[in-house]
Amino acid sequence: MFDIIVVGAGFAGAVIAERCANVLKKRVLLIEKRNHIGGNAYDCFDENGVMIHQYGPHIFHTNQKFIIDYLSAYTDWIEYQHHVVAFVDGNYVPVPFNLNSIAKIFPPPLARKYITLMLQHVGFGKRITILQR
Ligand SMILES: Cc1cc2nc3c(=O)[nH]c(=O)nc-3n(C[C@H](O)[C@H](O)[C@H](O)COP(=O)(O)OP(=O)(O)OC[C@H]3O[C@@H](n4cnc5c(N)ncnc54)[C@H](O)[C@@H]3O)c2cc1C
Repeated sequence: MFDIIVVGAGFAGAVIAERCANVLKKRVLLIEKRNHIGGNAYDCFDENGVMIHQYGPHIFHTNQKFIIDYLSAYTDWIEYQHHVVAFVDGNYVPVPFNLNSIAKIFPPPLARKYITLMLQHVGFGKRITILQR
């Protein structure tokens, strides 16, 4: 007999089921139609021993320490960094577009002019939408 039935063992269902069991001390039945937990964030090893994300690449990111602390009880971490760049006129340019992108794309005097204008009109560290015409 169960107090609670949770359907789906993705992030949402797995966490709710764990919290109900461990915090609320309920008897929980977690039902999953796939043959694994983790939902769309599931990863596994392919036939060559390479870890893959079966349903598409997932990157974990949070600025909440309690989330990292919670997950650390269930996983080890692999440090990872990625840089998103666009290849423009022979240069790798930071994306999303920012002041460094301007400095990379335009000749120094023009870049300085554009950056000064951007800082005057938008301000440092502000985010704006660049509309296409
Ligand atoms: C290609 C792709 C890339 C993504 N990249 C990122 C990323 O980089 N970073 C990030 O934070 N998020 C990413 N996401 C989003 C992330 O996958 C979801 O936010 C997260 O998986 C949602 O978790 P969930 O538990 O709500 O749902 P799901 O992960 O979808 O889990 C739901 C589970 O319920 C099961 N289920 C559904 N119906 C039933 C049923 N009737 N009976 C039994 N079981 C059932 C499903 O089989 C599944 O396992 C990405 C998603 C995709 C598709």
